[in-house]
Amino acid sequence: MTPTIIAIDGPAASGKSTIGKRLADELGYLFFDTGVMYRAVTWIALQRGVDVRDEGAVTRLAQETPIDVAPASQSDGRACDVIVEGRDITWETRRPEVDANVSIVSAYAGVRREMSRQQRRIGQRGRVVMVGRDIGTVVLPEADLKIYLDASAEERARRRFDEIRTRGGEADYEEILAKVRERDRIDSTRAVAPLRPAADAVILDSDKLSADEVFARVRELCNG
Ligand code: C5P
Repeated sequence: MTPTIIAIDGPAASGKSTIGKRLADELGYLFFDTGVMYRAVTWIALQRGVDVRDEGAVTRLAQETPIDVAPASQSDGRACDVIVEGRDITWETRRPEVDANVSIVSAYAGVRREMSRQQRRIGQRGRVVMVGRDIGTVVLPEADLKIYLDASAEERARRRFDEIRTRGGEADYEEILAKVRERDRIDSTRAVAPLRPAADAVILDSDKLSADEVFARVRELCNG
């Protein structure tokens, strides 16, 4: 039987969202990228001039501001819509200043408690592919299928670099690599829900596999 709750975890730029979205579309499941919630809280803090190092203030923002994540309403490359107070902030959450601060915000226990609670409520309904860092370990430990998608920092930085260049942007590989490493370090060493594979997760290393090969493997795992 096809699993009804599918968790995909892994570090930044490991291809989780691409694989997760494709899988959800194929199965007719909801795709839920939990990273956007931490990004939204970070964006709200930056927007309101709240110091991201002020744990109490950022936690209050997370508790008081509803973040709506909905299926994509536009086909402009987004995987889902992110709405805060009626405003579509989907692309704002991808800005470099959010990238640079999101790991600080997502390490706060109170922020995680609030986000996990909302994610759990949605995940428990089933027919969902949920993507993040702690889905298999903390948010939905009961998931029927857990995948941990890994890749070296160099490979992930190269993918980010190519992505930015393809869109016509300026990018510096060494700078991207340093940022990927820094985000990995914070995400995997934090006290609450650090990035790590669940004991029963299937680990896939995408360094030597193309996106199509990773997808084929994930598809096989779904078929049991
Ligand atoms: O996946 P994405 O890169 O958009 O996630 C942004 C950040 O949100 C991560 O670097 C991590 O700090 C945090 N995150 C998390 N737990 C999740 C998903 C994302 O801590 N389940």
